[in-house]
Amino acid sequence: SLRYRAHWSSDSDDDSQSDSECVYRVVLLGDHGVGKSSLAGIFAGITDKDEQAGDDTYERTLTVDGEETTLILMDTWENTTHDDDDDDEDGSSQDDCLKVGSAYVIVYSVTDRSTFDSAAELRITLRRARQAENLPIILVGNKSDLVRSREVAVEEGRACAVVFDCKFIETSASLQHNVAELFEGVVRQIRLRRDGSEA
Ligand code: GDP
Ligand code: MG
Repeated sequence: SLRYRAHWSSDSDDDSQSDSECVYRVVLLGDHGVGKSSLAGIFAGITDKDEQAGDDTYERTLTVDGEETTLILMDTWENTTHDDDDDDEDGSSQDDCLKVGSAYVIVYSVTDRSTFDSAAELRITLRRARQAENLPIILVGNKSDLVRSREVAVEEGRACAVVFDCKFIETSASLQHNVAELFEGVVRQIRLRRDGSEA
């Protein structure tokens, strides 16, 4: 369900714009508590904390390098069931999350090493689920503001991204640091592959 439709750029007020070529699903992955919903809230422009009800899907059109791209951000990973826990009515499962994304944002908390280990496992799971595809994947070390409780060094995050062949950025949802850069990076990674496959 789409609760929000917003635009980064003030000059695009046309809601009828539905250039499906430029709409991409981006799925947030990562352990509970790493900041997925906080990042999604910033993406959606939600300022009221109470509105961050939890798992949801948000759509926003970003203008990056003078070109518009619409991202549908899915914060549904934790809402979904593992394979066959129960038969989910809307059919959503973690398997579906692994299938529907055009790009993936794998989040860990720099203050919790176990979430960093989970991020690596998620990268492997994703590779297995989408074998032949060259998916844009961004590894995100969130909570960079919590310097005193940091457990994962920035160099470790960067090295992990090299090994797993994905992009890397550290963010702070609390300070809104590098969050716009993260989603701009997602758009650029999507375009690189699009332009590459057209060539
Ligand atoms: P989720 O379970 O991955 O969706 O994580 P949430 O977005 O619900 O965040 C979990 C907790 O971490 C909340 O209390 C957030 O306020 C807090 N949090 C999220 N991002 C940051 C951050 O960048 N810095 C700090 N200090 N706290 C954060
Ligand atoms: Mg959440």
